[in-house]
Amino acid sequence: MTEQGNTSGAGEPARGGAEPAADALAEYRSRRDFTHTAEPAGGRVGTAGERLIFCIQKHAASRLHYDFRLELGGALKSWAVPKGPSLDPHDKRLAVMVEDHPLEYASFEGTIPAGEYGAGTVLLWDAGWWEPDAAWQAAGANRGVRLHTETAAPALDAAAAIDRGELKFILHGKKLTGSWALVRMKGRGPQNWLLLKHADAAALPGSDIESDAPDSVATGRSLDQIAATKSDA
Ligand code: MN
Repeated sequence: MTEQGNTSGAGEPARGGAEPAADALAEYRSRRDFTHTAEPAGGRVGTAGERLIFCIQKHAASRLHYDFRLELGGALKSWAVPKGPSLDPHDKRLAVMVEDHPLEYASFEGTIPAGEYGAGTVLLWDAGWWEPDAAWQAAGANRGVRLHTETAAPALDAAAAIDRGELKFILHGKKLTGSWALVRMKGRGPQNWLLLKHADAAALPGSDIESDAPDSVATGRSLDQIAATKSDA
C-alpha cells in the first residue's frame, strides 16, 4: 500500500536491473485504477523461480498489438510489438519499449474495461522461460557484452545488455523457441527497438506464426471467446 500519488520524476528510465520492483512499477501503477481493472497491481518482489519467465500477450486495444515481456530484476521488461514476433529471420519487427509490468501480469488474460488504460481484450499468446544467449551475444561482432552462462547471475548481465541496446536471448515457449534478439534502433529514441529471430533450427522462413497459431496458450481461447466471457469482475 505504498501509494505515493505524485508524479514528480515521471518518465525516469531507471532500468539498472537491480532496482526493487516497487520502483520499477510506479509508472505501471500510476496508469491504472485497480478498483476497475482486473489486471494485477503487483506485489511480488524478486524472482520466485530460478528461471526467468517470459510471456507474450495479444492485446486487442485501440490497435491490435503483441506485448512482449521478459522477466528481469523482479519485473517484466515490456515491449509493444505491433505486428508480433516472426519466425522468419528476415523480418525485423518494431518493438516499442513500454513501462515495466509486475511479474503477476504474465498470467493475465481477460478484458480491460472500457475507459481504463489499455482497454480491450488480452490473450496469453505465448509463455515460458528465457535465458540470455551467451553464444550469440559473444558472436555479435565482439561488442563487449559478455554473458557468463556458468555464473548464477545472468539477469545482471542481461540488464547490462539492455542498457547497451542489444539483448540476445533464447526463448523456451510453446510457440516461440530458439535464439532471438532485441536491438535498439540507432537515432530513433530510447523506446524504439527491433525484435528479430536468429537463423537457427527454430527459424521458419516465410511463416506467419500469428495466423498459424492465433489462440491462447493458457486456455485455447480466441480473442472473441475471451471478449465474450464477462466473468472477471
Ligand atoms: Mn498492450
